[in-house]
Amino acid sequence: MSKQPLFEIKNLKRYFPAKGGKTVKAVDDVTFDIFPGETFSLVGESGCGKTTCGRTILGVYPKTSGSILYEGQETAEMSKAQLRQFRRRNQMIFQDPYSCLDPRMTIGTIIQEGMNVHFKRTPAERNEKVTELLFKVGLTADFASRFPHELSGGQRQRIGIARALAMEPDFIVCDEPIAALDVSIQAQVINLMIDLQQEMGLTYLFISHDLSMVRHISDRIGVMYLGSLVELSPTAPLYEKPLHPYTQALFSAIPDVHRGKKEQRIRLKGEIPSPINPPSGCKFSSRCPYAQDRCHEEAPALQELEKDHFVACHLAAQL
Ligand code: SF4
Repeated sequence: MSKQPLFEIKNLKRYFPAKGGKTVKAVDDVTFDIFPGETFSLVGESGCGKTTCGRTILGVYPKTSGSILYEGQETAEMSKAQLRQFRRRNQMIFQDPYSCLDPRMTIGTIIQEGMNVHFKRTPAERNEKVTELLFKVGLTADFASRFPHELSGGQRQRIGIARALAMEPDFIVCDEPIAALDVSIQAQVINLMIDLQQEMGLTYLFISHDLSMVRHISDRIGVMYLGSLVELSPTAPLYEKPLHPYTQALFSAIPDVHRGKKEQRIRLKGEIPSPINPPSGCKFSSRCPYAQDRCHEEAPALQELEKDHFVACHLAAQL
């Protein structure tokens, strides 16, 4: 892509202290860009660091080291005023909207809460804005006077989206936004997000373990394993020809990727190792069916094997 990235993430690390003076390397030297108007997705098993990565980019967690450039500016060096704008323009949608909607507040108050801090509007203008946002997310004006417990899971997620949109953002981190919803509702919420993106020019960082849904919404995808990016590619080539053994195993579990040939599913040996004590060399070496001596000694770098398709594996070119 030739556009100027909205975000440039370089060698980002986010470590957490653990018991016994140990360290959890939740995000460990991750580099990627996010371009305006695209959906960039992070996928991987639970605990791979994708949520921590999204939260660190937004500043919810301070980074341990590395660089987060937003429109070319280092976020850690922003002034208070710039940071305030950064927080408004970069929003988050959560997996469980119910846990972040105050049960004592009406939906109208919830949607207004953040926007009243940033935009000067009269009470009538605020109500008008709430109605507009409710329509945008496919709900009616009367939802403004209801309480969260009166809503279904899908409706609550629509409120979570409306609340994010109220801040007039450029960028939204969508952290497993459909994982808590019924399957029948998931596609509706995803389609709403795609429509809003096209209408408002939004950029998404979509975090999910649902590889079928990720395929539907993403322009590019990063695959994470134990805090590291192991593969990075536009969506179509990744699903057609995953290059990393971990991605191959992950994708082989989706029936439609292999046209229903269940016998082609690759079952990984062993459990995912602890990020406190990851294997030396390639972090995937303890589960990789192709691991060789070199893999246990030397960590592979992310390299462009095909156009815009990067992979971190010593043997990827031969597999
Ligand atoms: Fe497997 Fe070695 Fe490639 Fe790691 S570097 S994914 S262990 S083949």
